[in-house]
Order: sequence, then C-alpha cells, then structure tokens
Amino acid sequence: MSAKGDFVYAWASDAGMAERGECGGAVSTLLKYALVSGMVDAVLAVKKGVDLYDAVPALITDPADVDETAGSLHCGTLLLPKLIKKYCDGAKDKKIAVTLKGCDAKAMYELAKRNQINLDNIIMIGLNCGGSVSPVQARKMIAEKFETDPDTVIKEEIDKGQFIIVTEDHEHKGIKIDDLEEEGYGRRPNCQRCKTKIPRQCDLACGNWGVIGEKAGQATFVEVCSEKGATLLDAAVKGGALETCEPVPQGLVIRGKVENAMLKLGDKCRAEQFEKLGTSEDRLKLIMDKTSRCIKCYQCIENCPICYCVECSTKKPHLVTPGEVNPPFMFHLIRFSHISDSCINCGQCEELCAMDIPNSLFMHSLQLEMEKMFGFVPGVNMDLPVLALVEEPTERRRLTDTGDDQIFNIFA
Ligand code: FAD
Ligand code: SF4
Ligand code: SF4
Ligand code: SF4
Ligand code: SF4
Repeated sequence: MSAKGDFVYAWASDAGMAERGECGGAVSTLLKYALVSGMVDAVLAVKKGVDLYDAVPALITDPADVDETAGSLHCGTLLLPKLIKKYCDGAKDKKIAVTLKGCDAKAMYELAKRNQINLDNIIMIGLNCGGSVSPVQARKMIAEKFETDPDTVIKEEIDKGQFIIVTEDHEHKGIKIDDLEEEGYGRRPNCQRCKTKIPRQCDLACGNWGVIGEKAGQATFVEVCSEKGATLLDAAVKGGALETCEPVPQGLVIRGKVENAMLKLGDKCRAEQFEKLGTSEDRLKLIMDKTSRCIKCYQCIENCPICYCVECSTKKPHLVTPGEVNPPFMFHLIRFSHISDSCINCGQCEELCAMDIPNSLFMHSLQLEMEKMFGFVPGVNMDLPVLALVEEPTERRRLTDTGDDQIFNIFA
C-alpha cells in the first residue's frame, strides 16, 4: 500500500502507451485508469492541435481518447483550472482527473478557496515543470537560433539544461537554455521566475528528474502527495495498468539537487527581472508608461485565475469611463488592488495580452512585496488571502444571502 511521502518509478504496462508517453506513459495511464475504473467522470488533459506549438485542452469521457494526450508539450502555456470553472461548472457535480503544471496547481487552489472549484471532485496529477516556451517565441527561436524551419520540427524537449529539437529528417539539435535566455529566447519570463518545480499541492507529483539507471527515459518519478493519490496509484497497479519499482537511491538525491538548483535559478531570475523595474516611484512610473498602451481587450481578466467576477469593476462607468481607449490607469489599478495578493505568476495576463504588456511581471513583483508584508503565499494551500481577513465569514454569508458574485463589496 502506498502512502503520502512515498516515491516510485512508474510506467505503463501497455507497450503502446509506454511508447507514446513522454517518459513511459505513467501519467496517461493513471488518467485513463481513473476514467475506466469510474473514479472520475472525465479527464482533462492537453493534446497537440494543428502542430506541436499548438497545445489544446481535451475534456475526455471515452478512455480510448486519453491515448492521444500522451507526451509533453513544452509550448503548452495554457492554464487548465479556469476552464474547469468556466466550462465544467467548477466540478460541482462531476469528478475530473486533470494534469497540472505548478502554475495550474496553484490556480486550482486559489479558485477552490474562492468556491469556484470543488477540489473534492478533482484528482490532481501534477507534472514537474522546468518551464514552458511561448509558441510564437518558440517558432522565432527555432528559425533564428536553430536555423531550422519550425514546421519541420516533429519533437521538442527540454533535457539536461538544453532545448532540443528533432526534425523530420531525424536530425537532433540542442542549445543550452541559459545561452538562449541570455539572448532573450527560451522559457517565458514568468517561468524563469517560477519556483514551483515539483507541484506537491497535487495528489501525485510526476516528472523525469531522478529517473536514472536502466529505467532512465522510460519511467516517471512519482511522489505520492496525498491519500487520494496513493489510492489511485495502488488501484492502477492492482488493476494491471501500471508498473512500479523503487527509485534508485542516487536518483532521489539527484532529483533533490536539480530541484534546489532550479529554485536558485528562479531567485536569480527574479532579482534580475525586478531590478530592471526600479523601485518605488520609478517602478510606478514604468508600470504606468507600459500599461498606457493597453487597448482593453480584457484577455488579462478573462484568463486570470483570480479574476472571476461576473460584474467586473473595470466595467463600472464610475471607475473606468466606457469607450475610452487607451483606458485610464484606474483600469490597471483595479486589477492590481484585487489580484496582487493572490497572483500565482502563471503568466496568462502577459502571454495573451494583445499589446505584449509585461502584466505578469508587474503583478508578480507586487505579490512578492505583499508576501513579505503579510506572509500570505498564494497557491500552496487552502489558506485564505490577505483581503479575506476582512470578515471573510460575514462576506461569505452576504454572498450566499444576496447571490452577489463579488467577494468584497467596498461600496456597501
Ligand atoms: P505522459 O503519459 O506522456 O502524459 C503527459 C501528460 O501531460 C498528458 O496528460 C498531457 O496531456 C499532459 N501535458 C502535456 N503537455 C502539457 C502542458 N503543457 N500542460 C499541462 N499538461 C500537459 N519533468 C521533470 O522532471 N522536470 C522538468 O523540468 C519538466 N518540465 C516539464 C515541462 C512541461 C511544460 C511539461 C508539460 C512537463 C514537464 N515535465 C518535467 C514532466 C515530464 O515531461 C513528463 O510529463 C512526466 O515525466 C510524465 O511522463 P509520462 O510519460 O508519465 O507522461
Ligand atoms: Fe512551469 Fe512554473 Fe512556467 Fe507554470 S509558471 S509553466 S509551472 S515554470
Ligand atoms: Fe496569472 Fe497574471 Fe493573474 Fe497573476 S495576474 S495570476 S500572472 S493571470
Ligand atoms: Fe478581476 Fe477585479 Fe474584475 Fe473581479 S473585479 S474580474 S477581481 S479585475
Ligand atoms: Fe490591456 Fe493587455 Fe489586459 Fe488587453 S490583455 S486589457 S491590452 S493589459
């Protein structure tokens, strides 16, 4: 019997799935087993769209369809939890197993604590994550740095600090990520700052770090992070879908070292990126200048996991004059004041901004200042955010009694 804190190497018993999977297909097998066994009603995963730069979400109810979601898409910058909130009624009465990178896992918690997702109905299969590359940037980087037509690439991977591509002619080309990032290519800026490398908020945390010896490349290192995760793992093994073995002890040490090195790199990137923002008034001026290009496309609000209000304050005429493009700074101030305590640095507001405004950089810098002041760390557990200290139970009662969707009615 598995228990929280256990570690195993795992791989699919089915040879086809083991081959299709990124590292032996354990994750796809666990998702498929959860569906086949009736533990969940649906699986939410990610699959290739028109090409490998186009990662699309897949909500699956036929177990056979899980097969086509196997494999890692490093240009998959999408965030899944808000889709569960928007299109699956927050898993209110549907059980869903979902794959989650660290930012997804944090978004899941922030939505759950705001009653927008029912975590009881979710099985979270976490993926370790060294970072993802914006699809547009990836194409540019492959054309300019790898001197390769991006449409001829059939596989991309990140391994041992290199971004590697494989072309139709089975040619392998790799360039060190450090070198790419020094020249402005590589992982998204928010990924460079990210310090959620092994998402232990999930029920299982899965990745290739630490898989050494004869299973290298053919198995996934699974850390059991909850009883729910242990139950699924044991059931999949007992059901004959998954095979496991003890990790090589040195593998465990290596995994720890890599995680620590990545955390240090995250700190270094934070320091470098925030230094360029300046401090106090200079930082404010810079943010005002950069956000002045905003065309109010609302993508930042639409895709932010912390933004879910039916009546958004940015659409209230007494706060932001309607029809004015570019909108006044108040538009951004509203977001900063509502979100900054809970920003999980997922990068959606930057990645999808029509004007390429580094919104995530600004919000994350504010969040870390708030964290220093109040000690609230978003996305790691079900603790309520700073603003929730303002009579949260009373607010909750008001929401239930009035049907209001805004947690803090500052005009009341
Ligand atoms: P598979 O059976 O191949 O299943 C993979 C699952 O991941 C599928 O359900 C698929 O839908 C889902 N998926 C694919 N792309 C995405 C995406 N972009 N977002 C969300 N879900 C996705 N492991 C490490 O140890 N170190 C790393 O640095 C690391 N970086 C990663 C970066 C990214 C962007 C991704 C997606 C994964 C990363 N992993 C990393 C995890 C690793 O690549 C494998 O996914 C993991 O070992 C499981 O392998 P598997 O064969 O069991 O999974
Ligand atoms: Fe991975 Fe973190 Fe980037 Fe999310 S923000 S894709 S978890 S590195
Ligand atoms: Fe993600 Fe941006 Fe929202 Fe922060 S503000 S949680 S980076 S979308
Ligand atoms: Fe986001 Fe604030 Fe609008 Fe709500 S009111 S959607 S928190 S900007
Ligand atoms: Fe403005 Fe960018 Fe937000 Fe669109 S995504 S509203 S352009 S800041």
